[in-house]
Amino acid sequence: MAEDFETPELREYPIIPHLVVGAMEGTKPFYAKPEHQEPLGFPGELVEDWQDKAIDKMGELLGKYRGLQVYLDSCVKCGACTDKCHYYLGTADPKNMPVARQDLLRSIYRRYFTFAGKYFPKLVGARDLTRDVVDEWYSYFHQCSQCRRCSVFCPYGIDTAEVSMAAREILDTVGVGQKYCNEIIGKVYKVGNNLGLPEPALRDTLEDLEEEIEEDTGVKVRLPLDEEGADVLLITPSADFFAEPHIDGLMGYAKVFHEAGVTWTLSSYASEAANFSMFIGSYENMKKQAERIRKAALDLKVKRIVHGECGHAWRVAYSFWNTLAGVGQGADPNDKYAQELQRQLDPNYPVPQHICEFTWDLIKQGKLNFDKSANDHRVVTYHDSCNVARASRMGDEPGGQFTIPRNIIKAVCNNYVDMPEDTIGEATFCCGGGGGLLTDDLMEVRVKGAQPRMQALHEVVESNGVTNMAAICAICKSQFTKVLPYYKMGMDMIVSVHQLVSDAIVLTGQKTGDEEEEGEEAAEA
Ligand code: SF4
Ligand code: SF4
Repeated sequence: MAEDFETPELREYPIIPHLVVGAMEGTKPFYAKPEHQEPLGFPGELVEDWQDKAIDKMGELLGKYRGLQVYLDSCVKCGACTDKCHYYLGTADPKNMPVARQDLLRSIYRRYFTFAGKYFPKLVGARDLTRDVVDEWYSYFHQCSQCRRCSVFCPYGIDTAEVSMAAREILDTVGVGQKYCNEIIGKVYKVGNNLGLPEPALRDTLEDLEEEIEEDTGVKVRLPLDEEGADVLLITPSADFFAEPHIDGLMGYAKVFHEAGVTWTLSSYASEAANFSMFIGSYENMKKQAERIRKAALDLKVKRIVHGECGHAWRVAYSFWNTLAGVGQGADPNDKYAQELQRQLDPNYPVPQHICEFTWDLIKQGKLNFDKSANDHRVVTYHDSCNVARASRMGDEPGGQFTIPRNIIKAVCNNYVDMPEDTIGEATFCCGGGGGLLTDDLMEVRVKGAQPRMQALHEVVESNGVTNMAAICAICKSQFTKVLPYYKMGMDMIVSVHQLVSDAIVLTGQKTGDEEEEGEEAAEA
């Protein structure tokens, strides 16, 4: 690998690194060009009166999001968060300590929005908003994956992710946007998904997958697109249509729907679960993206919406779809489309429902048959994805977001082991590529930020012979595929939870192992 940085060591015990001041200074992603900025309603480049505009925007956000002001006012510098961020642990840069990251914004807030900061700035750590500050924000707020781990350990619950989103929103407003996120959001508006995959290509991919499943199992399992009147609309990340191991998960969902006897469809108009507008803190764009899903559900006249394996998108769906687009409980009574959708959707099911909830319900009812030995070549562990773990839930029980995926894995695999307690569940470590950082121009940040998770994984590889780590987030899967080799582990260690389901499920009428061998011999003859 040609990068000019060193991969952090995997150590026997976690160590809090000595500070290396400025270690990641100036590390930043590519800037968005005007053609990436303008479709999202942002100026194409830094505006002339950027300082006034930035302060105005900060004032607007403080008025709109009361939590932001509380977070900026309430830090007591206790230090509990300092060693909790994977980017600090992996880079040793003190500005990657959550409290220091917050202070990058807090110092400007104090200068322009507090009495003490206006008149005695030096006394309260307030500073002027200069061009250097803009550059510093751009660099260090793109070294935060908005994972919320620090907030779990903060006695005041200060959420650095919200501070990071606010900073990015201010930057976008003055014309300083990030290419990766903004270009992707533009593609969703233009084509329907992050990849810019048009409808004919999507249809071909789905047909190929149908053929692959039939060849493997002898059963015709459908992956339908734009089928009006289906029971379920599946909203899933577009990585599920082409990337490994995501695509194996998609085949798993299809097999589960097939066995459940539920009709389902994908939508070419809303062929994307991901909503990167959350990463850039833009409520308006987040809403615009979510409304595409409502339109697809209305047009296709479905009764249920099921959500595929995607972490941040599940947070958007679970926590925000209702207010963004009237999907789910609490839909705006004055929004006629939201009301129409409320009437259309079946009230007997959660809106939205996660594919893991869907599969686990069927497993509990004994409606799926598995041959667990199909996964006997694996010893599996599970990576809790940040946005699922700390920003949403699943099922009816508290902690369902932790137990349901694990229950599914244990139902389809004989060998399961957890990573160390302080690296999973609510305390899970980010994969290092979330929050809009999954771009090659941030490879150093991604590799170094993955160190704590890689260390925990390595520990169970050594102690329990773990061969695979399963996840339910498209970003985690892509990130691990890329960073595992840096830590001398195989890229194919990362698997989709529904890939494990797919490998073990026994479909009604499926050909047996003997029949498969006979078929292969006949084909060879
Ligand atoms: S990356 Fe996570 S732990 Fe680090 S500052 Fe951001 S939200 Fe906190
Ligand atoms: S844990 Fe909370 S209160 Fe303590 S320094 Fe960090 S952000 Fe401030």
